[in-house]
Amino acid sequence: MAQTKSTCCYCGVGCGVIIEHEAGRITGVRGDPDHPANFGRLCTKGSTLHLSAAPDTLANRALYPELRPHRDAPRARVSWDEALDTAAQRFAQIITEHGPDAVAVYGAGQLLTEDYYVFNKLVKGLIGTNNLDTNSRLCMSSAVAGYKLSLGSDAPPCSYTDFQHADSIFISGSNAAFAHPIAFRRIEDARKAKPEQKLVVIDPRRTDTAEAADLHLALLPGTDIALYNAMLHVMLWEGWVNRDYIEAHTEGFDALKRLVREYSPAMAASICGLNKADIEEAARLFATAPATLSLYCQGLNQYSFGTHNNSALINLHLATGQIGRPGAGPFSLTGQPNAMGGREVGGLSNLLSAHRDMANPAHRAEVAALWGVDAVPDKPGKSAVELFQALKSGEVKAVWIACTNPAQSMPDQPLIHEALRQAEFVIVQEAFAHTETCVYADLLLPATTWGEKEGSVTNSDRTISRVRPAVAAPGEARNDWAIAADFARRLGARLGKAELAERMFAYTTPEEVWNEHRESTRGRDLDITGLSYALLESDGPQQWPFPTGAAQGRVRLYEDGVYPTPSGKARFVATEYKITAESPNARYPLHLNTGRLRDQWHGMSRTGQVARLYSHESEPLLHMHKADMERRQLADGDLVRVKSKRGSVVLKVLESGTVRPGQCFVPMHWGGNTMGGEGVNTLLPAAFDPYSKQPELKHAAVQVEKFKASQSLVALRRSETDADGNLHPNPQALMQRLRQWLPQFEYASLTLAGRNNPVVVLKAQANEMPAEVLEALDRELALDDPTRVLSYQDSRR
Ligand code: SF4
Repeated sequence: MAQTKSTCCYCGVGCGVIIEHEAGRITGVRGDPDHPANFGRLCTKGSTLHLSAAPDTLANRALYPELRPHRDAPRARVSWDEALDTAAQRFAQIITEHGPDAVAVYGAGQLLTEDYYVFNKLVKGLIGTNNLDTNSRLCMSSAVAGYKLSLGSDAPPCSYTDFQHADSIFISGSNAAFAHPIAFRRIEDARKAKPEQKLVVIDPRRTDTAEAADLHLALLPGTDIALYNAMLHVMLWEGWVNRDYIEAHTEGFDALKRLVREYSPAMAASICGLNKADIEEAARLFATAPATLSLYCQGLNQYSFGTHNNSALINLHLATGQIGRPGAGPFSLTGQPNAMGGREVGGLSNLLSAHRDMANPAHRAEVAALWGVDAVPDKPGKSAVELFQALKSGEVKAVWIACTNPAQSMPDQPLIHEALRQAEFVIVQEAFAHTETCVYADLLLPATTWGEKEGSVTNSDRTISRVRPAVAAPGEARNDWAIAADFARRLGARLGKAELAERMFAYTTPEEVWNEHRESTRGRDLDITGLSYALLESDGPQQWPFPTGAAQGRVRLYEDGVYPTPSGKARFVATEYKITAESPNARYPLHLNTGRLRDQWHGMSRTGQVARLYSHESEPLLHMHKADMERRQLADGDLVRVKSKRGSVVLKVLESGTVRPGQCFVPMHWGGNTMGGEGVNTLLPAAFDPYSKQPELKHAAVQVEKFKASQSLVALRRSETDADGNLHPNPQALMQRLRQWLPQFEYASLTLAGRNNPVVVLKAQANEMPAEVLEALDRELALDDPTRVLSYQDSRR
């Protein structure tokens, strides 16, 4: 058995893994004891990574390029040459006729830094548009905008080692126990070693994270700014602010001070639905602890005022001097494995390479010089929601979607599906061919994935890790950066820039790409010119910045109190409380919160293939308070129709003490592949923050009504393992065939069960189940063989 060190491809904790493999197959995975993020530990998702690469999952892989000859035809296999020549020809034609802003790329925080770099250079350098956005927009863009607004740069100042130095830890808008499990384990360790350390959790739900807290503030959704302003009000009143720090290292405090005068604890208590005493206690724990660390994630970011949510919390750190010291600072937890790497290369429609500012002509000139082009465009491109709106309206005509699944993950799913239907040309570059988005691909390009790819990623605490291949790519799958570079050269030839494109995209290895990215960081706050692939190999993962001559990366930023702003001072932002994009009303009386399950990741394209990852929560459920269920005469397991302004979904309801009356919760993972309709993100609004353009995926106003179906079915099919270790039937292939029937039922869920031999589980309820549908299901499940199946039917009952 061979072993290869790599990095987990799920969350931003960025755990190191050791991949075990034999004869070209991945056979096991374990935590890397030497990796500074996890020291050998893995969560349920990371420790089952090898199962997501098991032989049966090959049924879900995109293995060959496939092209649709015309819109209504099925895709057929083509060569890479035909695929990329067609892509280049279509893009060149649209660019020539309508200009560069008529095309766009939509990427992912799952791409490696090298992939991101090439796509960014292709779009902004060769094509000449800033229409490059990614699913990081849905995840981290408010954290980016918040850091830049308050501290001057998108640079998390803290490290995981700060957990053990902190005296108070505040976790805001993050169920870290589920979403960043290994980071949370490290917090638990820190608390064991230091029992006096306090944990305060600010979250509308009583999550597992909140259960562990000394103080849980179950505020109403979207009321964080009122809470933080009131905490600052208390700190001012009690004399707990650090006037020396404010004077020496910040600006703008007077305006904020005037603003928070209005935010008395009593006023905030009524806005937030909290006790006044708890707000005062939170202020005390924050301000008077020797070192206070805050951790935050989507519960701050995914609001239409997400940037100010971030800045309001950072205001508290600046006002109390709780920053730039061991155990102190505002620490944004990165959702995705490489959202940070994407931010480093400028991989959003409003960012430029190496934290440069798109609005700054000198910065644009630096990037243009690095790339050897005359100029890079100054107009910000379309952000995620704007991009799909523009696809729907026809303003953007072609889109290239790489390594992400917007037909599951974006808010307002009806808009997204309509946009993909309307687009003139959709390219999907994917490892997995079964995602909801692949349905719309005119051209499907097979990409490598975890275990096959090579490059690097950066985690939440600025640690750069290598990603290494353990096995060969299946079929004709290619690395994402290589596909983009090959396409760029072909597009350049069609745009009359053949020589330029050949020069710009002459890479033969990911290391060449990374070295160019490294050079782009010279002199910037994230300078990594002292790093190399060789050093990462020999010395292991390293934090940025790591400039030439440095012996190690910087553990903590802003220790000298100097910030990367024109004045060198951090900025207080006068953050006003605003209401959510939708408020509950007579028609839609309930708050809907969204969040993550412990064992699933994003749209489940990878975790959804692993049977044991359904054991924690086995089907899409609406979590609801007992009082709201009683009012609607609902019992556990009843079907409900959940409706927002955009559409509705039918789910089973689960009584839960984690939500307050008037609120309900649904995990964000379930899409059209695992349930009826277009998935739970149908319910969420496309409203977004004006600074970060991050949509409000955390909250919608909904109505919930009992849904009655007269017929129901549960069908199970267990796979058996043959002598060669292959599963019959292949559960992934069976699920693919069953998916086509999900829209036939008002309620449906399609999942897996079992620890060893997987069982495909189809549950459905409807008021009418047409005989031909049931016959088709019998065929798929091998229930139509009278020699093996005994059936009894009483049509009157
Ligand atoms: Fe992977 Fe995140 Fe779990 Fe670590 S905590 S094993 S990075 S999913």
